[in-house]
Amino acid sequence: MQIEPQAFDRVLSSMCTEPHPVAREAAERFLATNPGDPGTYPTVSALEDEAIERLGEIAGLDEPAGYVASGGTEANVQAVRIARERADSSRPNVVMPESGHFSFRKAADVLGVELRIVPTDDRHRATVEAVRATVDDDTALVIGVAGTTEYGRVDPIPELGEIARSVDAMFHVDAAWGGFVLPFTDYEWHFGHAPVDTMSIDPHKMGQAAVPAGGLLVRSPELLDELAVDTPYLESTSQATLTGTRSGAGVASAVAAMDELWPAGYRRQYVRSQNNAEWLADALKKRGYAVVEPSLPLVAADVDRGTFEALRAKGWRLSRTAADELRIVCMPHVTRTMLASFVGDLDRLEVRASVPVASDD
Ligand SMILES: *Cc1c(COP(=O)(O)O)cnc(C)c1O
Repeated sequence: MQIEPQAFDRVLSSMCTEPHPVAREAAERFLATNPGDPGTYPTVSALEDEAIERLGEIAGLDEPAGYVASGGTEANVQAVRIARERADSSRPNVVMPESGHFSFRKAADVLGVELRIVPTDDRHRATVEAVRATVDDDTALVIGVAGTTEYGRVDPIPELGEIARSVDAMFHVDAAWGGFVLPFTDYEWHFGHAPVDTMSIDPHKMGQAAVPAGGLLVRSPELLDELAVDTPYLESTSQATLTGTRSGAGVASAVAAMDELWPAGYRRQYVRSQNNAEWLADALKKRGYAVVEPSLPLVAADVDRGTFEALRAKGWRLSRTAADELRIVCMPHVTRTMLASFVGDLDRLEVRASVPVASDD
């Protein structure tokens, strides 16, 4: 029996997307390779170096170092781990805005560091003053988000970097989702804009690579040494990754996608996705919903739960924010036609809701 995966034609909730055709092809070719064992699989291991070169170019890092991780979660865990190893404290803490991804909760739990969560402002960005008031001599890491999961917001990265420096802490930027759209905006978010030490940037989200392909970038290779353990049975002598056996498909598809799309293809995609997000935001506003402005291709709107459930029943894959808003991510597979069809379904529901129940005609 052949079971088909579900289609993307009603998926408005995912931060992943259909892989680009060249990424799909590369993933299939490299399915049976393991970059975790470079002595045995040198070809894919060399491809991983290329992936890091490309990611460095995107993220303003002149001498790129890092590796292709299983995703933003692993990259975030590893960034916290590097900071903990570097910290000159027996009780290290990590300071992050409340918009930070839940993967940092896993990191804090696994690594035994204190996670200090700082409120965001009324535009859903980290509050610089609150971060400044929260750091202290035990702060190992300050986290800024460049493209938040819920609202697509970009924290004031240069200011957060300065605060981290002021207490000798490391500074991590989580661009897991935003990294492949931010190069085409005016935001200051990368290694060239601020004293960033580590970054998460996922090819398997806006980068259109196959899952699993995340990215951990570090300002200098010594930072990876904090992660390295000896590897007795492998030809290589040490390993910095969290996982052992890894997906060569993820690595190869990331390189293929970036070779094909960086920069012109990603730019076109960003413009298309951002226009779609703004179109949807306008359409929802016209219908009387309160909308959180899409600063990146992600729209949140105050759509009630009943309507949300009715749309889900029509097959739309939707998600909600912690504040219970409807949240739609305008990924590459999300077209204007799809959004128009979605808004059409919303209109039909609203019409039905406003028709008197007992009408006979
Ligand atoms: C998706 C996301 C993550 C987690 O990445 P995974 O690839 O799902 O592990 C981390 N941070 C941000 C900002 C994200 O959007």
